[in-house]
Amino acid sequence: MSNKRRSVVRRSNEPENIGSPLTTPLYSSVVYHYSDVDQLKAVYEKKAKGFTYARYGNPNSAVMADKISWMENAQGGVMTASGMSAISAVFLGLLEAGDSIAAATQLYGQSLKMTSQVLPRLGFETTFFDASDPSTFADAIHPSTKIILAEIVSNPMLRVTDFPALTKAAKDVGALLVIDNTFTTPTGFNPLDHGADMVIHSVTKMLSGHSDLNLGYIGANDPELLNKLDETVSTLGLNASPHNCWLAEKGLHTFDLRLKQAQENASKLSRLLSEHPKVSRVHYPGLSTHPDHAIAKELLNGGFGTMVSFVLKGGYENLNTFLRAAENIPYGPSLGDVATMLIVPAVSSHRELDSSERLKLGIEDNLIRVSVGIESFDIIRDDFLEALEVA
Ligand SMILES: *Cc1c(COP(=O)(O)O)cnc(C)c1O
Repeated sequence: MSNKRRSVVRRSNEPENIGSPLTTPLYSSVVYHYSDVDQLKAVYEKKAKGFTYARYGNPNSAVMADKISWMENAQGGVMTASGMSAISAVFLGLLEAGDSIAAATQLYGQSLKMTSQVLPRLGFETTFFDASDPSTFADAIHPSTKIILAEIVSNPMLRVTDFPALTKAAKDVGALLVIDNTFTTPTGFNPLDHGADMVIHSVTKMLSGHSDLNLGYIGANDPELLNKLDETVSTLGLNASPHNCWLAEKGLHTFDLRLKQAQENASKLSRLLSEHPKVSRVHYPGLSTHPDHAIAKELLNGGFGTMVSFVLKGGYENLNTFLRAAENIPYGPSLGDVATMLIVPAVSSHRELDSSERLKLGIEDNLIRVSVGIESFDIIRDDFLEALEVA
């Protein structure tokens, strides 16, 4: 742009600078302008690289997609506004009339709602299987199954998917296998390397790590799938905001360190709780008593994750007594934060199921799920011991 006729309305040129910014600048611009038709056309036709309008992608989302794809060993990836918009993009972008879906019974609460209520309302049938029990696969996964959705480590029972059996079942019927890898993280397992077609993250959680944004990611190796997902995200407006990508990148830089510390803490906490007289059961795949300990050891790259669930003895009132006594540990419906957090699945993520349906999944009313943070373990230990003393 020339400065011949100046107006404050007209945008300025970028200041001259032979250096390059060390950190990724925030590109809040929605629009990118070009000098002529040919230039913009070349970008639209993917003959030249460039951004046009932020719903179709922006530099901050491109940087984030590239980083997570590298962590997941994916050929490419697409950022979305949230974890749920990633899941929406997969279903709405890839399903055709008449297709059906197979989903694990233990999924993130809203994914369960999507597969059991939203998609059936649109005419897509969903069948369910127990991801840790391959004998249930044959009934749920059949030739009209187009998409299979599962998580590697489930919420909140931390059951581990029999992944080799599930990939085989998917291949046998030619279905696309989609893994929500949020709980497991790319360090714990890379689904695409082991036969999944797509991997999803709620970047909101451990990857960004500070509970200050919603963001999602879908990774894949097949360029045709990636193209469809990219188009779906821009057409349906499921795109990620530049600001959230920019902020999430700062969190991502410390992901390895946070995971290491939180995972060590989780392992120690699981042992502490197992030995405590006020606790009747502990669910953590790292414990030899966990029903999926053997497959967790095989699949999870030497770590067992940052989530621990336990059942507190006593009735509902005791649950409140414990939560009030644990006043320094926030009780709130999320996970993957730098700080340790608690939820009670029966009254949050799984409140829409009745108590017998919950019990079928193993979710007792007094089950408390802990998202273990990066505090020094002494602090976590003292907080839990004090609160259990009162409960
Ligand atoms: C939180 C979460 C989601 C949804 O992510 P949002 O960013 O909140 O939309 C999906 N799957 C899992 C496993 C999650 O924990």
